[in-house]
This record gives sequence, C-alpha cells and structure tokens, in this order.
Amino acid sequence: MRKIRVRAVLSLAIIMIGVIALPQLVMAYFSNAAAFFKTYPSAATVSSMKYWTDSSVSTHGFTAYFSNARSKWDAAPNAQIGWSATTSYDDAFVRFYGVNDIPLDYAGIAKPYNSNGSYLADPDIGSGAIWHKVHIILNKGYMDANGYTSNMIQKTALHEVGHALGLRHQPDNEGPLDTVMIQGKQTFTDIRSIDKSNVAWKY
Ligand SMILES: [Zn+2]
Repeated sequence: MRKIRVRAVLSLAIIMIGVIALPQLVMAYFSNAAAFFKTYPSAATVSSMKYWTDSSVSTHGFTAYFSNARSKWDAAPNAQIGWSATTSYDDAFVRFYGVNDIPLDYAGIAKPYNSNGSYLADPDIGSGAIWHKVHIILNKGYMDANGYTSNMIQKTALHEVGHALGLRHQPDNEGPLDTVMIQGKQTFTDIRSIDKSNVAWKY
C-alpha cells in the first residue's frame, strides 16, 4: 500500500513538472520545419559545402571566428554537414567576407542567392531547395561601435552560418533563448541543443 502511494505522488509530481515546463519548452522555440525558411540549400549541398574566403576576412580579423563557426556546425550530431575549402569563387556555395562599415546597420548578414544569381531578400518567399550561393558578411565597424566582445563576434559568426543552413531567427519575445539563432548581442561560443536538434532533423 505504502509503495503504491509513493508512486502515485511521484507520478503526480512528474505530471505537474511537465505541465509547468512544457509550455516554455514547446512554445518558445521553433523546432524542426518551423525553424527553417521556406527556401534553403539542398541536403546534398549542405553535406559538402564548398566555401571561398575573401581576403577581407583576414583583413578585419574574422578568420578564426568563421573557422570555429564551420567546425561547430560540422560537429552537430546526427547531421550531415560538411565543408571543403575552394579557391574558386564560382564553385563556392558559401562566400565569406568582412567589412568595416559603420553606416551599415548590421553586425553580420547572410544573403542567399538563387540559380539566376538573384538575391533572395525574403527567403520565405517560394518553397523548395533553391539556394545556390550564400554570402556571409561580418561587419567590424558595427561591432566596434557597439562594444562586441570576442564571444559576441563568435556568436554572430555561428548565427550567420546557421542562416546559410536555412535556419530562421528563433523568437525573442519571451526573453533571450538558449540558441545561436536569436538576434542581438549574445555570448555563445558553440551552437546549442535546439540548434543541434533542428539541423539533425533536416540534414
Ligand atoms: Zn540573423
């Protein structure tokens, strides 16, 4: 009798924890398909992304940040994500750049292009795997003016590479979430659980 009662209390406690915790976990994050734009690169492309690095990347001190960002996404478990450096601008799927441009109002940006070379300003228009190139740009001028620490720069590099994989922004209306796909000055040096599970679902 006593054993049964303890189990019942324990079950009730677990149910109550579930009721309290679930709305935050489920409602706050975009997961699986909801985490991705309606257009994105193909899985075949993502499995072996050719990348080209402009000389402006080292000029503005971004070489290690991009290198780390590639490695961290590459290491996501159960996701076929790979990189291969190329010296061919034309062959590259991702092209990395640095700028030092204070009037530009961003710390970083990822710009997808379709097969015609057109910039897809809204990657949610259309559907299917139609990204043929992505340009990733980090902006030293904006980061310097806004007091970015090295960990904030690293988060920005991780975030922009996440966009290159087709990931959209995670919602921030319930406070900062534990994901590199949130906007703003965050200090992440690696991708987070939700980021890993989302790319594992897709790739
Ligand atoms: Zn973004």
